[in-house]
Amino acid sequence: MIDVRNLRKSFGTLEVLKGIDLEVAAGDVAVLIGPSGCGKSTLLRCLNLLETPSAGRLEIAGRKLEFDGTTRVPERQQAEFRSATGMVFQNFNLFPHMTVLENVMSGPLLNGLKSKAEAKKLALALLDRVGLSQKTDLYPRQISGGQAQRVAIARALALEPKVMLFDEPTSALDPELVGEVLEVMQSLARDGTTMIVVTHEMGFAREVASKVVFMEGGHVLESGPPAEVLGAPRTERLRSFLSKVE
Ligand code: ATP
Ligand code: MG
Repeated sequence: MIDVRNLRKSFGTLEVLKGIDLEVAAGDVAVLIGPSGCGKSTLLRCLNLLETPSAGRLEIAGRKLEFDGTTRVPERQQAEFRSATGMVFQNFNLFPHMTVLENVMSGPLLNGLKSKAEAKKLALALLDRVGLSQKTDLYPRQISGGQAQRVAIARALALEPKVMLFDEPTSALDPELVGEVLEVMQSLARDGTTMIVVTHEMGFAREVASKVVFMEGGHVLESGPPAEVLGAPRTERLRSFLSKVE
């Protein structure tokens, strides 16, 4: 489903991703962990072309791209990659002037793939799925952070992506609101949604991940099933990292 080969990304002279290899099979949940600044967000942003990789290869759901530092991705291919990936950010990024329902309808309406009635039907079903049928007519400022993040998840799902990318989806939430968002993510995983999740929630990683990927300094240092990577870390770096987050 997702195949990342020798992916590199530099900002000016700063090389942030130094040759990342990552494979995620359909229906798998990959959890990305690693210290601040190691390149986790940059990797997610490269996957949906919010950043253009400097080198390497990307394949998502059969769409392939190769980068050589001068690559400018044609508009159409960029749109294809974007629609294959649904992104959920730490700070929800909901449209403040739209209701919950309008937020979830906005994607399908903007890309013109659905009629208003179809978009509404889909949005209502997705809001039901994330437990927010009662909140459809409220504005983002009228709901809690946990609810806002669930709206953001529904909004990303409305574009029917092949893979969902989550960048620290619970980091901005009060502790008592973290659980409701993790539960929604867990239910997506159970339903077979392919996901890549950057998180410090090690409980989620242990219970939900098919694969845990530990990054440091722009490299993947360890990668494998959670029992292996979290249960029996091979490097001192990972042991030290885990002792700080657990
Ligand atoms: P955190 O856990 O704090 O979110 P991260 O692993 O997500 O960290 P990134 O946000 O990917 O790390 O950043 C990796 C490095 O790339 C950092 O040194 C950051 O300053 C740098 N960086 C990220 N985006 C840009 C940019 N647009 N321009 C210049 N440097 C950037
Ligand atoms: Mg980050």
